[in-house]
Amino acid sequence: MNVIYLNHSGFLVETENKVLVFDYYSQGGRFDFFDPKHYTGKDIIFFVSHNHNDHFDTRILDWAGTVSYVISDETRFSSDFKGEVLYVSPHEAYQFRGMEVETLLSNDEGVAFVVEVDGKTIYHAGDLNWWHWNGESKEFNDEIAKSYQEEIQQLKGRSIDVAFIPADLRLEDKYSWATDYFMQEIGAAVVFPMHFWGRFEACTMLQEKLYGNKICSITKENQKFTF
Ligand SMILES: [Zn+2]
Repeated sequence: MNVIYLNHSGFLVETENKVLVFDYYSQGGRFDFFDPKHYTGKDIIFFVSHNHNDHFDTRILDWAGTVSYVISDETRFSSDFKGEVLYVSPHEAYQFRGMEVETLLSNDEGVAFVVEVDGKTIYHAGDLNWWHWNGESKEFNDEIAKSYQEEIQQLKGRSIDVAFIPADLRLEDKYSWATDYFMQEIGAAVVFPMHFWGRFEACTMLQEKLYGNKICSITKENQKFTF
């Protein structure tokens, strides 16, 4: 399987028969790396975890007819949109185009995804994160801890091949908490840090901290990894 880091929380995952593109974010075309012509013969599905503009880029609508969409249901497309769309809500499971798509409830907005496809299990957090902000109230941070842990616990016992987890350095020394908790409780063969706003050092920091080669060392946009 191939994984391409596109930008921010945007990744392309290529399996035997499918191409899954999560939270595409071209930043006004600056990071517009996807081209369906590179994947002729494969079934291409875009996933949108929620409607914040760093996760939902309307650029993806240009490929309607060539690709299909799995969209968090607060992100409604206009009623005359012609593409094939599955709208999803939290804590549900769906069969769509030969995939099993399950959702968690994000503690920011929308959903996180667990997708089973071609014998692989992929977790993409969207903005579900341990959003512990230094300086926030104890009540806020306690509630965030609880909501994050409750959602991740729903994956207990699952075997995850690839996990995409926020490592947002704006959280200062707490940037790693989402990954730490996920790895302690669930685990994954491979982890891609994301939502690090171009600060690639988040990857090496996580590698050095605890998880070594399980953490993919992203160093630039459009970087490809093969497993
Ligand atoms: Zn975000």
